[in-house]
Amino acid sequence: MIRIENYLGNNRQASQPAGYLQSVNPYNREAIAEFPCSGKAEVDEAVASAEQALVGWRQTSATQRADYLDRIASAIELRSEQIAAAITASCGKPLTEAGYDVLDSIDCYRYYAALARELAAQQDAQGLQAVAIADPAFSSRLRREPVGVVALITPWNFPTVTTSWKLAPALAAGCTVVLKPSEVTPLPESILAEICTAAGLPAGVVNIVYGAGEAGAALVSHPQVRKVSFTGSTATGARIALETAAEIKNLSLELGGKSSIIVFDDADMEVALQAIMGGIFFNNGQICSATSRLLVHEGIAAELLAQLQQRVAQLKPSNPATAEAVLGPLACEAQFNKVMEYLAIAEAEGLQCLNGGKACSDGVSQWMVEPTVYVDVPVSSRLWQEEIFGPVLCCRTFATVEEAIERANDCEYGLAATVVSGDEQRAEAVACQLEAGHIWLNCDQKVLVETSWGGMKKSGLGRELGPWGLSAFTEVKHITRKS
Ligand code: NAD
Repeated sequence: MIRIENYLGNNRQASQPAGYLQSVNPYNREAIAEFPCSGKAEVDEAVASAEQALVGWRQTSATQRADYLDRIASAIELRSEQIAAAITASCGKPLTEAGYDVLDSIDCYRYYAALARELAAQQDAQGLQAVAIADPAFSSRLRREPVGVVALITPWNFPTVTTSWKLAPALAAGCTVVLKPSEVTPLPESILAEICTAAGLPAGVVNIVYGAGEAGAALVSHPQVRKVSFTGSTATGARIALETAAEIKNLSLELGGKSSIIVFDDADMEVALQAIMGGIFFNNGQICSATSRLLVHEGIAAELLAQLQQRVAQLKPSNPATAEAVLGPLACEAQFNKVMEYLAIAEAEGLQCLNGGKACSDGVSQWMVEPTVYVDVPVSSRLWQEEIFGPVLCCRTFATVEEAIERANDCEYGLAATVVSGDEQRAEAVACQLEAGHIWLNCDQKVLVETSWGGMKKSGLGRELGPWGLSAFTEVKHITRKS
């Protein structure tokens, strides 16, 4: 079993924590790593390290920081198989999907390297940039400054990727970082620590504190932490918003979702089936943007659901470490229990089950769930309204465009949606009326690094990726003078 230690950057030794937790492979329940159960003392040490490093790091040029990001990307590329294997061993994600995650994270570091260079080209040696002013009596110049020491707190469903969406723009902006990865997936992030050292990042620019909620809470409330960038559940996000309110800390929240896929009667059946399946069974439904509600036009519902039932019946969870696996176990015992509770609620509510509806096993894993589809789910059902975060799809039919939009928007979340229609113009018009941060038309779950990511309503605050992701780690200063 691997022993992971907190990381204070190149050349620095973190002090010993009081205790260690274990990371367990959800497929065979073998302990794969032990990691510090950090608390206030370890967080204080990591923040002090980041604070010390900030003095030098914020003065490096954006171009120099871009070079470090490119080095990180290249180092990840060299170790991509090892990282993908660590992701799969930690959260049961099929190896092929873990490989996509690694590629996405490499793209993200390279994208922010390029963006940092692009911005640097528009600035003078002091980082100042001209602003167009209508009043001829004045001129003004703009400077983007790093927020300072930032806390990055991540969940377990996309380790490496979620980290890159925060770490790459934070470093590009000139912030120093304390990362607190999920207690379920410390192993992939421990490889990132080695990569930061190999990339020659100055000591203390990136610090990693392992542990559970206690470590996250200590980090969020630390007075020297100027920004919290959090991805996780809405409940934890709300707690963080309360905790940071008194200090008016800069906050980005990427939270839960309950997204819809709307299939119109002119949809290409194959496109619709692929979008439905990908939207709910990718990563076993443990995706914040999972389209876990299917709204299908009543004119094609019978045919579509019959074909869906056949396809879902062919999906079997298996050992996620094999190349052919398409579904693995759920990520941890708590997540398995949560999904099982929803299956029990479905039974109590008398929902009509088209596929699955129960746990399963390949003889090794005890945390597998059959891919599950419920039909004619009432809008009052908890399964229709709440985020399950598992391979469970709830379906309803609709008659009119207005009804489909109203049903999709009747939700406390607003992260994503998919629209499938043969009429692209209509699909786009519907997309414009949906209350969600990202809409896919005739495709599913593709997140491009140049586009924004984030949600409306209880799905979050702010946006990651694209230029918005970089802005989230900067303060804007204007210097105005008489012309
Ligand atoms: P979680 O909220 O339980 O934990 C997320 C992280 O917060 C972990 O690192 C955890 O240790 C830490 N944490 C727990 N309590 C804390 C506290 N009081 N203060 C600070 N940190 C604390 O979420 P999870 O179960 O790991 O992840 C699943 C959730 O994440 C789902 O709701 C999912 O929708 C959401 N998610 C959202 C996005 C997005 O982009 N919107 C992406 C991935 C996951």
